[in-house]
Amino acid sequence: MGSSDRMLQIIETLPEGEPTGELREMVRGMIKEKSNLSSRVRRLDHDLRTIVELTRQINEKSLDLDGIENFTMNMVMGHFLIPKVFIMRLDNDASSRFIVSKWKNIEKPSLTFESGGKISNRILEIGVPFEVDGVDISRAEGEFCAQLHDAGVKTCIPLIKRDQETTFDLQGLLCLGPKIGTASLSESETEFLDLLARMIAISLHNAQLYHRSIFDGLTQVYSRGHFDLHLSQEVERVRRYRRMEDFQRAAKFISLIMLDIDDFKKCNDTYGHQAGDAVLRALAQIIQVSIRACDTVARYGGEEFSIILPETPKKRAVGVAERICREIAATIVETGDAGDLRITVSMGVATYPDDADSVQLLIREADKALYAAKEEGKNRVVRAPSLESRKNKGK
Ligand code: GH3
Ligand code: MG
Ligand code: MG
Repeated sequence: MGSSDRMLQIIETLPEGEPTGELREMVRGMIKEKSNLSSRVRRLDHDLRTIVELTRQINEKSLDLDGIENFTMNMVMGHFLIPKVFIMRLDNDASSRFIVSKWKNIEKPSLTFESGGKISNRILEIGVPFEVDGVDISRAEGEFCAQLHDAGVKTCIPLIKRDQETTFDLQGLLCLGPKIGTASLSESETEFLDLLARMIAISLHNAQLYHRSIFDGLTQVYSRGHFDLHLSQEVERVRRYRRMEDFQRAAKFISLIMLDIDDFKKCNDTYGHQAGDAVLRALAQIIQVSIRACDTVARYGGEEFSIILPETPKKRAVGVAERICREIAATIVETGDAGDLRITVSMGVATYPDDADSVQLLIREADKALYAAKEEGKNRVVRAPSLESRKNKGK
């Protein structure tokens, strides 16, 4: 029994009347206050733990867009007991559109709005968490509110990055369904969500900048810069392991495929650049699903792609390239207005250390093999000659 309960117990034994009655009321008031304080401390303790965990996760996943979004969703579900939730953020392509990027326990809502448009400006103007039923998002585009409502959203938390409290950038919108049970979010819960939203907005911004720096905006495969760095690291790894005594068990090869679309200029000229872009996106997608998780595809230049295949000897790499080449030739690419197209590609394959003893030479040999494939009639794979055979020929 706590001391205040004991105090009340003693007072109960005193005779009725003044001042016992007053004393009794005072003690009851104190007990109630204490209980309120205890639950407040428990809630603050819970909030503090969430902030610490959020900070830890943000540091750990600082540049991992997926990780930050997943953590945000789980935090909302676990801490605030809201099972239905989704996040809207800027698309990774160059379109400057907000899209639904993650959703839980609902069907993906088909919502989108333009950055810098009426809806995003209105959300920035509101600036704090708001109830969907209580606010008109945009007088001109009120249907967005109706769409949110139809998607089961009760509360929206704007994810705003604030620079010195003068510049406000909308990074996203956290959309929450109702809490489990009948209770709605309390004022302090909403304030707490707003605080978390500021931290999430900054990390979303950083992760997105990073994403844009390593992925190509159009095709969403790695960019040239990332490719250069990654290939150097992989070649260095093979070089290092080969020097080790137990290299039998470690990295021995790395293969590189260079790929170029055949007659792509004609495709652009005939069907337009938008159809050309659709072809580039489709091609990246075909390659992506045709390779292993440890392989890397990058957009090397306009309509050229490169694929890094770690731990892959030349024969196997040629097999992979031939499979992708057939797959692409057999695919019908839907381009919308321009109709369905077919394309072919040419590829060159080179392997370290068989065909090249440096990164630069590896790229050059794969490139030379690619152009040999073009010369030989396109829609085919050509392998680079080995260093050995080139030495014998005196090249
Ligand atoms: P080849 O079979 O010899 O490779 O011929 P090609 O027409 O594919 O080669 P060329 O180098 O003459 O043309 C490449 C074309 O790729 C020209 C350029 O307009 C197009 N291209 C490069 N980047 C993009 C892009 O991002 N989008 C679109 N739609 N086209 C692009
Ligand atoms: Mg080219
Ligand atoms: Mg080409």
